[in-house]
Order: sequence, then C-alpha cells, then structure tokens
Amino acid sequence: MRSAKRYDALIIGSGASGGMAAKELTSRGFEVLVLEAGPPVNPTRDFSSHTWPYQMMYRGFGPPGWKQQEQWMQDTASYYSRHFYVKDSEHPYTTDPGKPFMWVRARIVGGKTLHWGRLSWRLSDLDFKAASHDGFGDDWPISYAEMAPYYDRVEEFIGVSGNNDGLTHVPDGKYMPAMPMTCGEHLLRKGAEKTGRPAISSRVAMLTTQPKSFMKGRRKCHYCGHCGDGCITNDRQSGLTNCGDAGWLTDRSGYRYDERDPSTGRAWPAMPDEFRQLALGAATRAGFPGFVPDACLVNRYTPGSRLTAHRDADEQDFEQPIVSVSLGLPASFAFYSLTRGGKGRGVALEDGDVLVWGGPSRLVYHAVRPIKPGTHPVTGGLRYNLTFRHAR
Ligand SMILES: Cc1cc2nc3c(=O)[nH]c(=O)nc-3n(C[C@H](O)[C@H](O)[C@H](O)COP(=O)(O)OP(=O)(O)OC[C@H]3O[C@@H](n4cnc5c(N)ncnc54)[C@H](O)[C@@H]3O)c2cc1C
Repeated sequence: MRSAKRYDALIIGSGASGGMAAKELTSRGFEVLVLEAGPPVNPTRDFSSHTWPYQMMYRGFGPPGWKQQEQWMQDTASYYSRHFYVKDSEHPYTTDPGKPFMWVRARIVGGKTLHWGRLSWRLSDLDFKAASHDGFGDDWPISYAEMAPYYDRVEEFIGVSGNNDGLTHVPDGKYMPAMPMTCGEHLLRKGAEKTGRPAISSRVAMLTTQPKSFMKGRRKCHYCGHCGDGCITNDRQSGLTNCGDAGWLTDRSGYRYDERDPSTGRAWPAMPDEFRQLALGAATRAGFPGFVPDACLVNRYTPGSRLTAHRDADEQDFEQPIVSVSLGLPASFAFYSLTRGGKGRGVALEDGDVLVWGGPSRLVYHAVRPIKPGTHPVTGGLRYNLTFRHAR
C-alpha cells in the first residue's frame, strides 16, 4: 500500500534509543515515523505498580508454571509486568552448547524503559579507552570529554538523582538530590570506608524533587517500590473513563467503543440523567435537536497533558454532533479543518464552557493544547472534560 506522506526519518522501535532519537529529531522539525512491534501503553490499564497482591489471583505470582511455559527467559518479568515482554514460547531462540544467554526482550511502546533499573552511570575513559589501559580489544573512537555534554543533556531531560562523588571512574553529572541511604546502607558505607572503599548512592533516573517544567505530567517519586511494574508517576496522568452504554477505550487491539470497562469486565456506569439533559440542551441550542448521547468520555488532564490532533470518526452516525464540556483548569482547544495539519483556530475554554460541533464540521480535526499549571477551587490542579457522542 502506498502512502502519500513522506517522512524525513524512520525509526524502528520506541525504546530508549528510538524514543530519544524521535524526540531529538522531532524537536528540530523532522517528520519522523516510528514503527513499534509492541502494543501501545495505557498506564491506567497496563501499569500495576499500585495493585496489591491481594487484588491479584495467586497473590501476584500468577498461575503455577506460567513463567516456565511462556516467559522462561524474561527473567525480570513478573505476573504484574509480563505484558511488557515477549513470550519466549512465541519468540524462541537457540544458543551454542555451553553458551547460554538470557535475552530479556521488551515488546511494547517504550521498550525496556518500562522495566529497566533506572541506574544511570556515566562511562569514563577507563571504559572508552579500555584497550589503552588493559590491552584488550580496541579503544572507542570517542572520549569521555566528547560525550560529557550529551550526558549532561540526557540527565537533565530524564531527571537523574545522585551525588557528585568525585570518582574518576564514574564521572559526576547533573543530578537531582540523591535518595537518602537506608540504615543498612549507612552501615555498609561505614564498613566500606574502613577498607578504604567509597560506598555511594546509586545514580538513578527517578525524580527526587518536583519535576521541572519540561517534564510534562511527571511527578516526584513516592517510593512505592514497584518500579518494574510500570511507574504510574511517570505517566502523563491523563486518565480516562466513561459512562453510558458505550465507552471509548484503547487496548492491544486499538481504539474502539466497547460496552464493558476492560479493567472490571463490567458495563460502564449509566449516564446520569443530568449529563444527558446537559448534552441534549447544549446540542439543541447549537442547532442539533434530538441529540441522543450514548457515550460520555470522561478525561482527566494534569498540567502538560494534551490531546494531539485527531477527529472523531468511529461513531455510526455523523449527523449527530459532539458535545464537549470543560471543567476545572482552562484549556486551549484547537480546531483544524477536514484534513490534518495547518495552524488551527484556537478556542479558549474555561470551567463550565460547552463546545458543540457537527454538521459540515463534524469530522474536523481538533486538539487540546498542553494544559497550563494552575488551580481551580473545585478540581485543584486538574482539568476534566466530558465528551458526549452518539456512538452506536
Ligand atoms: C531487567 C533490565 C534492567 C535494566 N536496568 C538498566 C539500568 O538500570 N541501567 C541501564 O543503563 N540499563 C539498564 N538496562 C538496559 C537498558 O534497559 C537497555 O539497554 C535499553 O533500554 C535499550 O534500549 P533500546 O531502545 O536499545 O531497546 P529496547 O528498550 O529493548 O527497545 C526496543 C524496542 O523495539 C521494539 N522492536 C523490536 N523489534 C521490532 C521490530 N522488528 N519492529 C518494530 N519494533 C521492534 C521493541 O518492542 C521495543 O519497544 C536494563 C535491562 C533490563 C532487561
């Protein structure tokens, strides 16, 4: 199938390498296509860092034997995080006799950044120029001095906590405050010092202070300790839920309407009559009498969250309009045209504003620009949006 769209760069895989490459290229105006073999991530559904063992069958250990049958090489996969990884039963590999190799493979948007240990050490010239030190192999063609500015940039962008310890083999960097040592670690440090060895805090890509403004939607670590199960504080916290007969959702099979909430297996809560009347009244005043909403998407936006340009084209009846109710923090809504792209016309939305579009504009592309930080007397630092549609 031919596509008219031409891209400047094609990136295979959305892990740390692909993700960072995409960020750097797009920030310089490149049109980038990222192809990812794994499914998209929906933090609310896919991350179980806050799921207690008693909420899981088998207390989180999974049915006996599941790991040996499906993911025997995915050493760090737990029953909580198994969906981040490939199934060895589907992607087997062989190794030479006597040379076993454990190949942990992510298969999801974000790749191994969903489960890595977050340890973020700098290599030094002991590594880059190892051959000059020990005579083995070849020196790298780059030196630490050349790499240092890039380490600086990445550390500041992802947020790495740690101390500057003045050790040449693990060069210092641009760190947020280190996590305090535990009692056991203090004892270890004291013991190590007696032998002349420094014991230092790990340098880890975890936010120990309030995020900087460009760390959109991220939050300070709250030490829940389930980092490998998908860190919910790292998501953009733009949760969504639904009420009504049909709920809008995204999962491994893509976007769709479904009559059941996949997280509970139950029907969505009924749409309150007040909601229905509000939507009907607004649609009627906008010239669309007889609007019958059967889906109400409830979006929660934290500062920095946004909706990229899209159009609502999965409904059965485009004669029916869309009614959008804004609550809490203000937002800037952008209307484009029937094709993607262009500048977009901004519409400032305040708490209580209702936007209705339909007729010839029913399929226009629209977006919500990043929410600016603020506080609202009822919703605090959040914006909520109710989108009413006639889905089926
Ligand atoms: C358990 C564990 C802990 C780790 N801890 C640390 C640590 O503390 N510090 C550290 O520095 N490093 C750590 N690492 C290593 C680090 O996570 C990886 O080096 C890094 O994430 C690799 O990034 P990547 O983008 O190259 O690959 P990945 O993150 O694996 O991303 C590859 C992406 O490509 C996709 N993909 C694969 N094949 C295809 C295809 N054919 N088409 C399209 N997409 C495809 C995958 O789905 C995946 O999303 C750890 C690794 C593991 C397994």
